[in-house]
Amino acid sequence: MAFADLHLHSRFSDGTYGPEELAAHARRCGLAAIALTDHDSVEGCAATARACETAGIEFIAGTELTAEQEGNELHILGYFVDTQDPGLLTEIARFQAVRQDRIREMVRRLNRIGVPLSAEAVFTLADCRAPGRPHVARALVAARLCRSLDEAFERFLKRDRPAWVPKFKMSGPKALELVHQAGGVAVLAHPGLNRTDNVIPDMVEAGMDGIECFHTKHSTATTERYLELAGRFQLLVTGGSDCHGASKGKPLIGTVKLPYHYVEKLKARAAEIRAAARPHASP
Ligand code: AMP
Ligand code: FE
Ligand code: FE
Ligand code: ZN
Repeated sequence: MAFADLHLHSRFSDGTYGPEELAAHARRCGLAAIALTDHDSVEGCAATARACETAGIEFIAGTELTAEQEGNELHILGYFVDTQDPGLLTEIARFQAVRQDRIREMVRRLNRIGVPLSAEAVFTLADCRAPGRPHVARALVAARLCRSLDEAFERFLKRDRPAWVPKFKMSGPKALELVHQAGGVAVLAHPGLNRTDNVIPDMVEAGMDGIECFHTKHSTATTERYLELAGRFQLLVTGGSDCHGASKGKPLIGTVKLPYHYVEKLKARAAEIRAAARPHASP
């Protein structure tokens, strides 16, 4: 039986693995297919596709868009997106700029309370277009201003801590639209981690294709609840480890093994979406 891990981060967002490392770990875990789903980025897809090809692993281009609906944060996974799509790239660039401005504001707030970190130190360490709080945490540890990433989040970065800065986000339906317009399949990430159940009917109405039922942080009961919900709303089912590399203890890649038949269904939907976008295209 073949398995996939459809939720992975790399150093192009807040993961630590580069493309080759990711492919090597996928191989070691015996995965047949992986998807890269960096936060608000598709920057790592091309290099990871090449690394996977060399390693003999199927690669699915993806992203994880940060959105907001009714005041709650929700993450929309986009699978089989065209990573060159101008509309997607333009919007992603806008939200990457929001992330970069937010880093500067977090650093200003740290400086104001006497923590001498520079924005440059964070950007140099992050070395990607979609920096986030984990990079600030890593920079604080590297500068010996915190002993651990946990300490950095607990003292400074968590919601309502001194360096917490809210982030402007796109709406849920906008995220769905962006993914679809780039030929991708739109899936609600880890619903068990966000308080998003109440928005699911509206998101289905807005065209959401699927829901991530299998996730490292979903209990068996949570997974079953969302599998039932997927059946009720006729949604596709996905799953992945949400591995961020070696940054948070043991790597999670391969701890969620999605049976490959779910990938087949995802692929079929992507083909439908692309066909609908080009109804008059010649074969
Ligand atoms: P951001 O998108 O900049 O708000 O950062 C969110 C990311 O920070 C998440 O995707 C996680 O990878 C990470 N994160 C959130 N909370 C914590 C925490 N308490 N400890 C470590 N990492 C965290
Ligand atoms: Fe993350
Ligand atoms: Fe997420
Ligand atoms: Zn994720």
